[in-house]
Amino acid sequence: MGKSTIYENVLTQINNAADILNLDGQVRELLHEPMRTLTVSIPVKMDDESIHVFKGFRCQHNDVLGPTKGGIRFHPQVCEDEVKALAAWMTFKCSLVGIPYGGAKGGVLVNPKELSRNELEKLSRGFIQAISPIIGPDKDIPAPDVYTDAQVMSWFMDEFSKLKGVNTPGLVTGKPVVLGGSFGRHSATARGVMYITIEAAKAIDLDLNGATVAVQGFGNAGSFSAKFLHEQGCKIVAANDSKGGIYCKDGFNPVDAAKHKEETGSLKGFQGCDDISNEDLLTMDVDILIPAALENQITEDNAENIKARMIIEAANGPTTPEADEILFKREIMIVPDILANAGGVTVSYFEWVQNLANYYWSKDEVDRKLEEIMVEAFEKVYNTHIDMGVNMRVAAFIVAIKRLTEAMKARGWVYNDHKY
Ligand code: NAD
Repeated sequence: MGKSTIYENVLTQINNAADILNLDGQVRELLHEPMRTLTVSIPVKMDDESIHVFKGFRCQHNDVLGPTKGGIRFHPQVCEDEVKALAAWMTFKCSLVGIPYGGAKGGVLVNPKELSRNELEKLSRGFIQAISPIIGPDKDIPAPDVYTDAQVMSWFMDEFSKLKGVNTPGLVTGKPVVLGGSFGRHSATARGVMYITIEAAKAIDLDLNGATVAVQGFGNAGSFSAKFLHEQGCKIVAANDSKGGIYCKDGFNPVDAAKHKEETGSLKGFQGCDDISNEDLLTMDVDILIPAALENQITEDNAENIKARMIIEAANGPTTPEADEILFKREIMIVPDILANAGGVTVSYFEWVQNLANYYWSKDEVDRKLEEIMVEAFEKVYNTHIDMGVNMRVAAFIVAIKRLTEAMKARGWVYNDHKY
């Protein structure tokens, strides 16, 4: 039997929770298939005057709770299956943390590192034009994801505003503050990871002061998670990116490591550290492992060798269902993506609220509200995990599915006597 696709992994995750809830067929059916997926071709005149046609997707999974929301990824491995899976995770994530959004995601097949700034701008503008009929502040609101950032969001917002003839800051989140971005959005995913790690550490009786941490992926989610956990007293002993990894048994300063990456283009060669492979990082003897790169990193092939006491999923989909089972049996706590990295979409929601109201909040206010939401979501999931004897991922899906079912009943999409 071949390996499952990422979307098949999502279906397994939905079914694992749905089976425990005895969820009837209709809700399951609605959650199993995305509402729509748009495939687009984006012609870009490159710097050498040749025309390159890029392929992109926008998938809207489910909008029962509100307009759909989710990032846009620029990566050479983007495919429809991946975008569908990422969109579905957004539906459950927004439901879990109680914000009024459905789930969506987008992606373009491209290696942005090979493009000039001019080409990247043309591609960004071309993509947003291509998906413009199905997005908007009341329909579907994009955000940054792997290899997209505040600059790309600015081009998206500017292009859409020109197209519609209306200044529309609420179209996207993750914008720079000067264009209506929210204080705290840039590092919100990682700040949420920190709040969740504090709660999870209490739950397993782990003292964060001196706790060792390995971080896979040193971009937005990973590097800020390392910074915030370092500030909490953790010892960051290993990190990597697509070019390689570093290890130092006494720990290193992640802010200096980020500076080194910015200056040299990679973490490798950072002073006082040895090189390590990706597999060594994942199976390292640490207290906390933070996958913050891509999907399918912790699988049945390496789950038996994981030595971390807990795994906090900053990335989406880093653990396969087979690995989940192995790790649950081994009593390693996994805080699932839809909970651990929900800080990003939560502050995106704050940004959108500020854009719609045209009234802006202080950084303290953003951080305080984020902490409240993350801690409450953790409690709900942890209590479900304990009360029902299920792993944290199943617990998170149970909490999310209950709210989605309530909303489907209220809208009349399913009958009121629908069982869950
Ligand atoms: P990013 O582009 O800022 O960083 C990605 C990092 O991963 C880079 O350092 C890259 O070098 C590294 N990487 C890529 N392939 C790798 C590999 N094979 N091994 C090790 N490292 C590798 O992206 P990001 O926004 O930090 O996203 C990372 C993950 O977090 C994704 O799964 C994303 O969906 C998830 N996430 C991001 C946000 C957000 O707000 N940015 C929110 C929620 C979830």
